[in-house]
Amino acid sequence: MKDHTRNKTVLLTGGAGFIGSHTATVLLDRGYDVVLLDNFSNSKRDVPTRIEKITGKPCPCEEADLLHSGEAEAAFKKHDIGSVIHFAGLKAVGESVEKPLEYYENNLLSTINLLGSMRTAGVKNLIFSSSATVYKHDNPVPYYENFPLGAANPYGWTKVMIERIIMDTAATDFTFSAALLRYFNPIGAHQSGLIGEDPQGIPNNLLPYIAKVATGELPEVRIFGDNYDTPDGTGVRDYIHIMDLAEGHLLAMEYLRKKRSHEGDFIDIGESASGAAHEGANVHAFNLGTGKGTSVREIISAFERACGRELPKSVYPRRAGDLAIVYANTDLAERELGFKARLGIDEMCADAWRWQRHCAKLPE
Ligand code: NAD
Ligand code: UDP
Repeated sequence: MKDHTRNKTVLLTGGAGFIGSHTATVLLDRGYDVVLLDNFSNSKRDVPTRIEKITGKPCPCEEADLLHSGEAEAAFKKHDIGSVIHFAGLKAVGESVEKPLEYYENNLLSTINLLGSMRTAGVKNLIFSSSATVYKHDNPVPYYENFPLGAANPYGWTKVMIERIIMDTAATDFTFSAALLRYFNPIGAHQSGLIGEDPQGIPNNLLPYIAKVATGELPEVRIFGDNYDTPDGTGVRDYIHIMDLAEGHLLAMEYLRKKRSHEGDFIDIGESASGAAHEGANVHAFNLGTGKGTSVREIISAFERACGRELPKSVYPRRAGDLAIVYANTDLAERELGFKARLGIDEMCADAWRWQRHCAKLPE
């Protein structure tokens, strides 16, 4: 079978979404061709055009639903794909508790269909959007990649299960390789202000919520708990700029390609998601974060600096299921991928604010 691995076209499932669209700009800027595949269930149809405007490169997009296996296969027949970055999925934690079957169906079945289409097409490199939610809640911080896994909600379980499905698939084919990228808290937007995170309805996540308070669309920032055992009592997370995160995908893809060109159709001993050695599987998990924790109050202050005014805020009870502190150990990604986040919370908030002003049609 033809080896597609050296082909430079990258298929981005869910490529019109928040993380996929930013990653597309990084890949195009570095000379890769991309094809987006999206059903636009949580993204807008004009995103590919915006990516073209930012990069000056073509950004073809297939409107397709990964739940229909024929649609994924058609994309592989039409384009000469070398690698796949799999962003497509449903991602709202609270909604996953209310609609577990929809989450398991969409996230698991779309991945199974994708893996089947990759096998048929002979495509061997996969980067998967995993999450810090795969780490068991009683792990100490910082989180290391070999910590025990376990989730607190159906969304998190879909990520744990997909990691397992990818490893079991890789174990049947030593020429297949995958990177499981465990994102911490991606925020910010492309510096152009043309793409960013645009959640429908009232946002669940802190940063988009603050941004809508800043535009006047929401009345006040709700601080969920100020009596945690943290320096200022509010929850601490590892926020990472979306453009740094996007860069991590390029590095992970090049890491898989480099390993292949050094080792041919390599055989390696990977780490399983449960931390135990998983013989023969070329699957590598990496944390993508900054390795630094930032509190809710620190993020609000940074956003106030970005938008140039104090924002209304009040303390509310803790949100059910929230942990006090979550941040990554990033040594493995730094050592193996050469990944290091460059942008701090001031840049994250300034870029998020530029994008939010664009969405709210406020003067730039
Ligand atoms: P997003 O919702 O903006 O993007 C996901 C895209 O997938 C959307 O454009 C949606 O239309 C598409 N999609 C969903 N189901 C599909 C299907 N069956 N077929 C085709 N397209 C489909 O989300 P995002 O923030 O860009 O996240 C991308 C990935 O990263 C997701 O898998 C998410 O779970 C994961 N992740 C996100 C975060 C975060 O904070 N944003 C954190 C950790 C992990
Ligand atoms: N948070 C908050 N108000 C909000 C949303 C979130 O105080 O409106 C807090 C939340 O308790 C957590 C942090 O902000 O400490 C990040 O929450 P988010 O939902 O953005 O990410 P996650 O919980 O997935 O890490």
